[in-house]
Amino acid sequence: MSSVFEVLHIGIDDVDSPSGGCTTHAAYRLVKELLRNFRDLRLIDYPNLVRLNPAIPFKTRGNGAVSIRVAVRRELIDEVVELVVKSIRDYVRSYEYRPDEDYGVAVLIGDVPDILRSFYRKALTDFIHRDYLMRVLRPLKGRLATPLGIRRGLIGALAAIGWFLKCDCTYELISYRTDGLTPDRCIDAESVKQADMRFRNKTFLNFDYIEGRVLIAPHGPDPVLAGIRGEEPHVLAEVFNTIRFCEGVEGWMIFRTNQGTDAHLICRDLSSFRYLQTGCTKAVVDLKPRILPGGDVIFRVRDPLNHDQRNSVWVAVFKETGLTGVARELVKGDEAYVCGSMKYWNGLGPVLHLEKLILTKLTQIKVVRNPRCPRCGARMKSSGRNKGWKCVKCGFRTREAEKDIQYIKRELRRGTYIPKDSAVKHLTKPAVRYGRERDCIPIEPRGKWIS
Ligand code: ATP
Repeated sequence: MSSVFEVLHIGIDDVDSPSGGCTTHAAYRLVKELLRNFRDLRLIDYPNLVRLNPAIPFKTRGNGAVSIRVAVRRELIDEVVELVVKSIRDYVRSYEYRPDEDYGVAVLIGDVPDILRSFYRKALTDFIHRDYLMRVLRPLKGRLATPLGIRRGLIGALAAIGWFLKCDCTYELISYRTDGLTPDRCIDAESVKQADMRFRNKTFLNFDYIEGRVLIAPHGPDPVLAGIRGEEPHVLAEVFNTIRFCEGVEGWMIFRTNQGTDAHLICRDLSSFRYLQTGCTKAVVDLKPRILPGGDVIFRVRDPLNHDQRNSVWVAVFKETGLTGVARELVKGDEAYVCGSMKYWNGLGPVLHLEKLILTKLTQIKVVRNPRCPRCGARMKSSGRNKGWKCVKCGFRTREAEKDIQYIKRELRRGTYIPKDSAVKHLTKPAVRYGRERDCIPIEPRGKWIS
């Protein structure tokens, strides 16, 4: 690249509010404005939609942040930053008037440093405190503009910039509707089903055949019409064009994302798995499952390497995940990786909300019974310590009989159990993506990627 060009990484987050709006929609409008106002500005990657820690309590929906990475003439940097701020402010104010307290914008000039990549990993899997944010900001002075100041949205904005990694990724074409206030979207379900059948090898989570439900549309009062998720960007516009929508479409844009990759399920020790963290931990079932009123299931697990009672946590399995049937069959001693987000329940303490269960070892269930009477077949009774057995039915006595040991056949199988398609959250890797993982790198958008 010519030396007169500079790379800018623009991060944005928390632009939405409960009364409407969406960070990706603001990003879509911003990209359009950037392309319109700066003729030789180029994107060096598809806009990134970066999902962060799903356990964060103040998220509105899916804890998503966006980064837009552009190459621009050096002398235009200030103008670009000005346009970014104006565009985001106008967007927020078009939904409701908010003083600028939450939404965050960050603009980094040049390479993405390791400190921001680590920041992304932490924002994905843990809670970011203000002091950690400040520690990350200090060394970036001079290269990082935070034109709206330091506020909560800056966490997501910086983390989105930090997702500049060689790792698994997917793409999503997100389309926006002209009226963003009603919860229902007008989409022809049959056309979604047809599109899924045709493009199922390259897309995922379009249609739930078990419940007969369209999965591409959200249900909130926000501007997203539909999201088509896939492995590669090129096919998504074609899929979109085969689906029939019966409401106004403002336009669409393709994002590169960390969705559907299980990126948040990092390996952790159970003893150091804290509240608001995400991950997978090796565990042994310690207390048999209990079914709660309503059908959710909880069971207790402990660290397999540490028998200390303090190293045990509860695992909650929600009915809508479709995993309660498996959870109910667990018995004390079963070994598994339990994966999900650690929340806090009054009265129970830390509770892992289960997103994935990898069952590695099934305990044999042993049932020991008194021997049968060789004469009449009834169960005998012990005559006392070292005094043999007596049949209560026919009176037969013997010292020769052995206790009857049986192993009950387990219905469960070792393996990986994940939520059913209708319950898959943004970051969770759905069943069809197993085996499709690969390393992605930033890639300049080509063909039709925005409309
Ligand atoms: P949408 O999906 O519509 O963009 P959202 O669910 O992403 O909405 P936000 O309104 O963006 O929700 O709120 C999430 C807030 O949490 C942001 O301010 C973001 O900076 C902050 N945040 C994200 N991850 C973390 C984290 N790991 N620790 C602390 N704060 C975080």
